[in-house]
Amino acid sequence: MSEELAKELQQQEDDVTFPRIIGIDAAALKEEGTATSSDLLLAQMLQMEFDREYDAQLRREENKLNGDSKVSISYENYRMVHPFEDSESSEDEVDWQDTRHDPYGPDKPSTIPRRGFVGKGKEITTKHDEVMCGRRNTARMENFAPEFQVGDGIGMDLKLSNRVFNALKQHSYSEQRRSAKVHEKKEHSTSDQAVDAKTRLLLYKMVNAGILESINGCISTGKESVVLHANGGSINEKMVPTECAIKVFKTTLNEFKNRDKYIKDDYRFKDRFSKLYPRKIIHMWVEKEMHNLTRMQKVGIPCPEVVILKKHILVMSFIGQDHVPAPKLKDVKLSTDDMKRAYYQVLHMMQQLYTECKLVHADLSAYNMLWHMGKVWLIDVSQSVELTHPHGLEFLFRDCQNVSRFFQKSGVADAMGERELFNAVSGLGITADNEVDFVAEIEALEKMNEDHVQRRGKHRTISYDESPTDD
Ligand code: ADP
Ligand code: MN
Repeated sequence: MSEELAKELQQQEDDVTFPRIIGIDAAALKEEGTATSSDLLLAQMLQMEFDREYDAQLRREENKLNGDSKVSISYENYRMVHPFEDSESSEDEVDWQDTRHDPYGPDKPSTIPRRGFVGKGKEITTKHDEVMCGRRNTARMENFAPEFQVGDGIGMDLKLSNRVFNALKQHSYSEQRRSAKVHEKKEHSTSDQAVDAKTRLLLYKMVNAGILESINGCISTGKESVVLHANGGSINEKMVPTECAIKVFKTTLNEFKNRDKYIKDDYRFKDRFSKLYPRKIIHMWVEKEMHNLTRMQKVGIPCPEVVILKKHILVMSFIGQDHVPAPKLKDVKLSTDDMKRAYYQVLHMMQQLYTECKLVHADLSAYNMLWHMGKVWLIDVSQSVELTHPHGLEFLFRDCQNVSRFFQKSGVADAMGERELFNAVSGLGITADNEVDFVAEIEALEKMNEDHVQRRGKHRTISYDESPTDD
């Protein structure tokens, strides 16, 4: 490689907005461990951007040198970036699960008014203005909570051009896939706590687009999801709730495999299920949670209001106040009167869910009911199923067991037993007087229902779009 080239590259390097970071040896940084993982990420992404440009330059040199000659010289060994297998293909970037308007069109302005420019005469600044756009891209970083570790860039008056910003995104995607393969074991042990790089970028974009004002930290870390608190901004001039909860579904975990049964047989998802990559199956969970919440909202069941869905991230209104999430029903100490009111409210919600939403919660317990403003709020409905689900009634019976036991234990004298509650919710009037027979009758009903659906299916396939109450 020529010295000339090296000089030229140096010159290019100087032109880049991050001279201090570009030079960093990513390998050396790696040694520092996970505390600096975001700085590392940023540095690595920039390094890769640099490497790519370097390779492109090499390729140009190579072409120039070889021309039409039959014998050619290859610079292959000098390349920084080597090709790698990408089995998942770019397909997984498709936003097919977004049923709402996509607020992140390219160059979407968040502070520039509709007409697309500000100022007068020569001083006009358009939404494409490099400096403005760049500052906006980086300024938003400041709105991340400390654990997001966006890096030291904050203090440096950084400018991130849209091109670099988009490049960073692409790098983080492909790099993450690559390193996920290489470091699979290591990843598993560390990814439990924080959100991963891809998620951070998506969240960063939401802040950048003004949908969220800030992201304030973690409310809950579960096996399948991480829930964060955020302050809302606006979408297309429509205000987002001031306090939001962001549910990030984990994309690396196996837990979801155990949940196949909830979704596989839900007719809304049946056709699509078999053809999907694991990541897409998780997208489907998020989509399901969104649709279920929307249905519940429509019939007036107290539950979070959906703000937006983006890949494996669901933003919804926050149930709680001043950053403090509402307590779970299992944790809250209620007066006898309140507990009794809570019971009747839950009974009513279960009935509404069944008869009006045509849904079974399927994970209803005192863990997924929050006590807020003197009433019970239902959350966590990604696994909720249609009544026609082949195991829907069994799930309903399990919900009834949880609810019945909880309220009886909490001293609500009126609380029905599980079988009575099941009949009160479903109106099915099953008469068996012990659990075994009761469940057997439930299963027989499900079987009948299934046969019926299959017979109907011969004449007409029910498609997802025809689901009765979704929008
Ligand atoms: P999972 O149990 O599958 O991890 P949940 O939806 O139950 O997911 O959320 C986990 C916890 O996060 C809840 O128990 C609750 O404390 C909190 N949480 C979830 N959504 C909200 C919300 N919209 N407002 C306030 N807190 C929430
Ligand atoms: Mn839960």
